[in-house]
Amino acid sequence: IKIKITEIPIPVGFAPAFEGERVRKDDMFAEFGGGRTTAWELVRKRDLSEVEDHKIELIGPDIDTLGPDGGKLPLAIIVDVAGKNMQEDFEPVMERRIHYFTNYTEGVMHIGQRDIAWIRISKSAYEAGFRLKHIGEVLYAKMLDEFGSIADRVQVTIITDKEKVEELLEEVARPRYEARDARLAGLTDESVDTFYSCLLCQSFAPAHVCIVTPERLGLCGAVSWLDAKATYELDSTGPCQPIVKGECEDEVKGSWESINKRVAEQSHGATTKVNIYTIMEDPMTSCGCFECICGIMPEANGVIIVNREYHGMTPLGMTFGELASTTGGGVQTPGFMGHGRQFITSKKFLYADGGLARVVWMPKELKEALKEKLIERGKEIGIENFYDMIADEEVGVEPDAVVEFLTKVGHPALSMDPMF
Ligand code: SF4
Ligand code: ZN
Repeated sequence: IKIKITEIPIPVGFAPAFEGERVRKDDMFAEFGGGRTTAWELVRKRDLSEVEDHKIELIGPDIDTLGPDGGKLPLAIIVDVAGKNMQEDFEPVMERRIHYFTNYTEGVMHIGQRDIAWIRISKSAYEAGFRLKHIGEVLYAKMLDEFGSIADRVQVTIITDKEKVEELLEEVARPRYEARDARLAGLTDESVDTFYSCLLCQSFAPAHVCIVTPERLGLCGAVSWLDAKATYELDSTGPCQPIVKGECEDEVKGSWESINKRVAEQSHGATTKVNIYTIMEDPMTSCGCFECICGIMPEANGVIIVNREYHGMTPLGMTFGELASTTGGGVQTPGFMGHGRQFITSKKFLYADGGLARVVWMPKELKEALKEKLIERGKEIGIENFYDMIADEEVGVEPDAVVEFLTKVGHPALSMDPMF
């Protein structure tokens, strides 16, 4: 018999209503990740013998060692799940819920996923007695509550010891992230007959519908086509629903009648047409948790991409935050679009708009994180040194400086068809 846990033993409130709550700098006591410290999260399948149910362990200092003004710590959250119906395919599905469950906690803000997680704990939560083990209590209770059919035992390990966080990231977490990506690598949009819609973000962007395909993951970066499929297998009435593709209306822009119908239904009529391979005309809506935003830079006849972790200015004269406030909320914004990091090197990225060759600028960190794949895709599109042609903040954030650089390196966007 499974016991449904309704009360979670934590000193602050817990409800979906807290999801939209932001923890601003001035209200913040502790911060993890967000480009400031290493922070990652992982759900992994283990054998029953390896999991002690309800064990919650903290390795490293808790937040009350930070002193009266609080501060930053590295963080790893490992949720070990055992159960006879548990499959590796379900790991990323459960891992995505870490985002929701921590956000439902009063005074806790969670952004990102995998090794770009970003968590803040507010001063008032700290004063109420909230400590790191409470994150474990929340995750323990909610994982069993929502995934009771597959999880028999759950244990949570929270690590703040810097060396350990970094060591296990390389040894345990990254290999698992990579293995998941590799499982997806051989799949193309053409090779499947079903896409999926994801509605998880409707809790704060009520008209937002993600269309998830093998070559286009959810814009949070945390829901691949395989994950959406597993989510549906876990719960056939859940947030991810299959869309049988049927006949394609426009292979270049990426338009299907089946998608339009689904989006119209699930956005309650707010969006009736979506082209999944372009940002120019009826692009997919953006919720709020996109990893990156790409937007047109008219002077360069191309696009820039900026990731959430980059706090500086972009050549569009706006920061990530400023761009996010005009792009997000579940509306279509032609010329701008939220998307996952991995989508950038997909063949379907800007497919109708000229593809990867349109990308003229991105922050150095993002460029380096994608380096190998960008070099590989550059070769595929016949531009040997494309990686080196992409400007970054070191080239500049003034449009003039960027264009001067692009001209010097002979960036292909400058001579492509006008974007409008
Ligand atoms: Fe689902 Fe899209 Fe939200 Fe990711 S961003 S959780 S794919 S709706
Ligand atoms: Zn979202």
